[in-house]
Amino acid sequence: MNSTQILTLGLGLEAPWTLKDQHLDTAVSPHRLDLHVEAERGSLYPCPECGKACPAHDFTTRTWRHLNFFQHHCYLHARVPRAKCPEHGIKRVEVPWARPGSDFTLLFEQAAMALVREMPVLAAARLIEITDKRLWRIVHHYVGCMLEQLDLSEVKAVGLDETAAKRGHRYVTVFLDMQRKTEPVLFAVPGRGKATVEAFSDFLAAHQGDPGNVLEVVCDMSPAFLKGVEAQLPNAEVTVDWFHIVQTFTRALDEVRKRERREQPHPKHLRWAVLRNAESDNLTPHQITALQELLADESATADAWIIKEKLRWIQQAPTPRGARWRITHFLNFAREAIADKALLAPVRKALNTLERHADRVIRRWLSALTNARLEGMNSLFQAARSRARGYRNEGYFITMIYLIGSPVGSLLDQAKST
Ligand SMILES: [Zn+2]
Repeated sequence: MNSTQILTLGLGLEAPWTLKDQHLDTAVSPHRLDLHVEAERGSLYPCPECGKACPAHDFTTRTWRHLNFFQHHCYLHARVPRAKCPEHGIKRVEVPWARPGSDFTLLFEQAAMALVREMPVLAAARLIEITDKRLWRIVHHYVGCMLEQLDLSEVKAVGLDETAAKRGHRYVTVFLDMQRKTEPVLFAVPGRGKATVEAFSDFLAAHQGDPGNVLEVVCDMSPAFLKGVEAQLPNAEVTVDWFHIVQTFTRALDEVRKRERREQPHPKHLRWAVLRNAESDNLTPHQITALQELLADESATADAWIIKEKLRWIQQAPTPRGARWRITHFLNFAREAIADKALLAPVRKALNTLERHADRVIRRWLSALTNARLEGMNSLFQAARSRARGYRNEGYFITMIYLIGSPVGSLLDQAKST
């Protein structure tokens, strides 16, 4: 086998295309390998519309970046004809090694897509030595194609959550299939609230799904989401995920801590000590000391902390009835503890929220689906954020959420192996 045959195999060339010439240029940096692909004179080419073998009408020379040949950049050149179809007229022929309109071979794009699933786009672009802008164009293209193929006809249980594209920046709402263990993302859209649920409902309908088939929704307690669900997913029962209850009380606690700190000094290491779960997280000795000092002081932060920690007692209720009873007692106990202390206003607000949504909270004891927690999505969002680091537009973040968190990843693998 000579080098031409090896390269031909590597390119996956098929008739009428053959490798005619190769040239390694070591006078330029980086070195480059140029491959010239040609078809025999008089070859027939399939019409891109109907596939009929047609004669060439005229040719244009085109160049594609191909996978590096060892450390050398590699380019593929070919004279690409326009075929003259008796039925469809003169049409540009599609070449088997690249998709229409791309300046890269399919193998190059596959390698690029494999990299961006493992590392930030900026790093991948440097590694394969193309601009990040061109790499993003490839990524958007493939993710978009695979998204179009999503079949959502089986979707019955949906979880939704919001996350910031960047810390403190614009929000993205993500919808999950609560029945899928892996690649659960169904849809991601900029913004939060009612309009995002409407956009999801449209997306579902456009992918063989039916908003009327959605019977379960798991989400947080934001009134805008709840209104959206009511309007767009009329048959859905809403469950408030436990994670969001804990989050509500943890935020209230942090608010109390910040307010109180302005009035009196707090023990060192307090912030992380109070925000963690005292039972399951390993507290450092410093954090334990800080908590002990806090409780000895009988401060407002201590009250807020005790209330937050007592949530676990509700969570551990064995039955829905037990949960309702525990919520009632929890509310009474907590309101008594707070009394009229002004610093504890944020906790009072959290208690009212819990009371208002008690039925939706108790549904978690009835629904089998809420075990798959939205909380687990944070690591996915974190990974997507890191892949899209350095780009302000939340569209990049959303593309990455799809790539690593939705069935798009599997669809890409399937497309590659066929
Ligand atoms: Zn035709």
